[in-house]
Amino acid sequence: MSFADLGLSEPVLEGVHAMGYTDPTPIQLRAIPLILQGRDVIGSAQTGTGKTAAFALPILSKIGESGPGPRVLVLEPTRELAAQVETSFRALSRFLKIRLGLVYGGVGYGAQNDALRQGVDVLMATPGRLLDHLQRGTVRLNRVEYLVLDEADRMLDMGFLPDVRRIIERCPNTRQTCLFSATVPADIAALIKWAMKTPEVIEIGARRSPAETVKHVIYPVVDEQKNELLNALLKEVKFDSVIIFCRTRHRADRIGNLLKKSNHAVAVLHSDRTQKEREHALKGFRDGLFEILVATDIAARGLDIPDVSHVINYDVPQHPEDYVHRIGRTGRAQSRGDAFTLMAVGDKGHVADIERFIGQKIERTKLESFNYQQSVLFTAEGGIRKERPVLGALQRHGRTFRPRRR
Ligand code: AMP
Repeated sequence: MSFADLGLSEPVLEGVHAMGYTDPTPIQLRAIPLILQGRDVIGSAQTGTGKTAAFALPILSKIGESGPGPRVLVLEPTRELAAQVETSFRALSRFLKIRLGLVYGGVGYGAQNDALRQGVDVLMATPGRLLDHLQRGTVRLNRVEYLVLDEADRMLDMGFLPDVRRIIERCPNTRQTCLFSATVPADIAALIKWAMKTPEVIEIGARRSPAETVKHVIYPVVDEQKNELLNALLKEVKFDSVIIFCRTRHRADRIGNLLKKSNHAVAVLHSDRTQKEREHALKGFRDGLFEILVATDIAARGLDIPDVSHVINYDVPQHPEDYVHRIGRTGRAQSRGDAFTLMAVGDKGHVADIERFIGQKIERTKLESFNYQQSVLFTAEGGIRKERPVLGALQRHGRTFRPRRR
């Protein structure tokens, strides 16, 4: 089935064509007709499947031309996601005469107030700042016809659900609601029950599985050699663009500096950076000015960074869902990618959790050219253990080594 068969409006089809999309993705095939019919939809497809267009295209087809608004409200957990979804809407609606608005925190109110005063048809927002605007009376939601709660599980993780509920209370009951979430924990299930009308559930692929186009492997290594191995991998692998994920902002800064010293063009993205620095990092990475983006998990979900050839988990993610989200950066919309995870001895438990979560074993491998100082053994169950420095160390200390008898 082609986009033209789905019942989208003519100017929206022109937008699709201008974007170069030829065939709808599976979530688009399923969601577009339902949303056009006016159904509430829950989508559990992960990012990289074309889910933004899956809700943007039917909604844009239905709202037609500009009118008093906002008539569409899209809530996003982070400002980067809000900005990215706004970019997608803008591109897809280029043949429609509608006004888009974007409100998020961390920047002044002036420009947002001006845009809201002039009127917007589609509003993309993060919950906290939108609630501020509601309280200040700079925006009203009484004309909202379409509400999208994107990355709902992420909004829950970030503690936004109470704000989200307050925002929904300001929208008319007659609205159509779509919710996207990789997982549906109890709090999201309660929100669905409260906010949605007999929703249709669309599940694309196994909810937990990472993109099938990604080849993922684990490099066991001792902590002390992580930096060295990272450098060696970057030398060995022919990457076009790579995102390196670190556990903390501090570690991201440290790795960023380390790689700059090795003459890589690096940008660092985490929540301690100013909005301007974050935008500069993302834009530079998208434009190819930086070949490496070092990021914390804030960048892991949903951000549309095309053509990432590799994802490297410098640190094993603490939550299994984050593994799926991180490696979702590569293999997006069918292009292939590789995901590498450096696994230190203490990470075994987290890796086991990830493997249980995704329902598959991740291959362990070794960089042949790398000088593993503490020789790392691959055990039968696929973990690693440090080889005891028995012989060498004892001999250095002038003792002889006798194997212990059992
Ligand atoms: P998303 O899952 O919405 O973040 O989309 C992931 C990427 O797929 C984005 O770069 C979209 O522009 C792209 N995309 C969305 N729909 C299609 C399609 N039907 N054909 C090709 N690329 C698409």
